[in-house]
Amino acid sequence: MPRLYQRKIVLLGDPGVGKTSLVQRYIYDTFQKNYMTTLGLNFYVRTFEYPDAQVKLLIWDIAGQKSRRKIGLRYLQGASGALLAYDLTDPISFDNLAGWYEDLKNANNGKDVPVIIVGTKLDLAQTNHLPLAYNVKKLGDTPAAKANLIFTSAKTDTNVDAAFNLMIQEIVSGLLPIPDISPKIRKEIATKILFFVKKGDAWSKVAFNHLEKVGKKYALSVETIDAEEDPSIAEAYGVTALPTILVGGRHLVGIIQIAHLEDIIKQMLES
Ligand code: GDP
Ligand code: MG
Repeated sequence: MPRLYQRKIVLLGDPGVGKTSLVQRYIYDTFQKNYMTTLGLNFYVRTFEYPDAQVKLLIWDIAGQKSRRKIGLRYLQGASGALLAYDLTDPISFDNLAGWYEDLKNANNGKDVPVIIVGTKLDLAQTNHLPLAYNVKKLGDTPAAKANLIFTSAKTDTNVDAAFNLMIQEIVSGLLPIPDISPKIRKEIATKILFFVKKGDAWSKVAFNHLEKVGKKYALSVETIDAEEDPSIAEAYGVTALPTILVGGRHLVGIIQIAHLEDIIKQMLES
């Protein structure tokens, strides 16, 4: 009998950043301009089957949410992970993430809870040519500052699955075996960072510059692959979401903070 794990995930972030849209896209594959705001909570359940384990995720979303102060402890307690959502067109919603993280931590007796940072409304950010700037320092000295970051659009269905997958990976890591990679690919990625991206995205240049800097330090070349133009290459490497950084056999989906990327590369070179 596979073991059953039940885990709670909460959606956090300022009102209006698009949390409900994100989860509704993920669960029902729909997008609406307006959601009926009911009082209380919405729950969503997804169960994942693995060879030796069954993981049941309970995703909690606050309905008709007003402000941080009104979030009850019960919402935050017992969370195994959180999606910290901010609106890519609203820098203040990013600055407020540190506060959301603090609430989460306090509600869980000071325990660090794994988080993924989700920038939302990528479609708007791109059409308005926003710089998509964010200042990681605003996250302070918290694990959130090193958390994985991914840009999404619930409207155009971009990276929504990937965002939840990142969270799921984080939660089930340790429960599941490491995927098998062919020796040929293993050899290739030992000397390279492969960056699968949709070329011309406003933020891909910024990310590429970071990657090059880190790559140089560890004598790894960086190769950019336009995953839309070359879907078969992306497929061969098992890339399902953009952007993905493939390094040392690991798929890093979303834009990884540099400190995090460096740690991963170091570990990879040491092993
Ligand atoms: P919540 O308060 O964080 O749950 O935010 P909602 O999911 O209710 O979304 C607030 C508003 O932003 C709604 O009008 C949504 O239609 C809109 N919205 C959410 N996600 C997106 C997106 O990816 N793109 C665009 N253009 N609008 C979005
Ligand atoms: Mg909502």
